[in-house]
Amino acid sequence: MTADRGDDPHVRQLLGAYVLDALEADECRSVARHLQRCEACAEDYVEVAEAVSLLALLNMDDLLE
Ligand SMILES: [Zn+2]
Repeated sequence: MTADRGDDPHVRQLLGAYVLDALEADECRSVARHLQRCEACAEDYVEVAEAVSLLALLNMDDLLE
């Protein structure tokens, strides 16, 4: 078990905005730092990033039709 520090909250709720590059620079940095240390959030990040890239592919297909 990894210790849960009060000053290092999980970033799950920010991942969507992080993937879409919609966070403030400060938030973006702290999310990136957290992802390097937190396996649970890193796994969530991969899932969110995959979902977003699938959406991007779908939108691309729509544009090509
Ligand atoms: Zn975390």
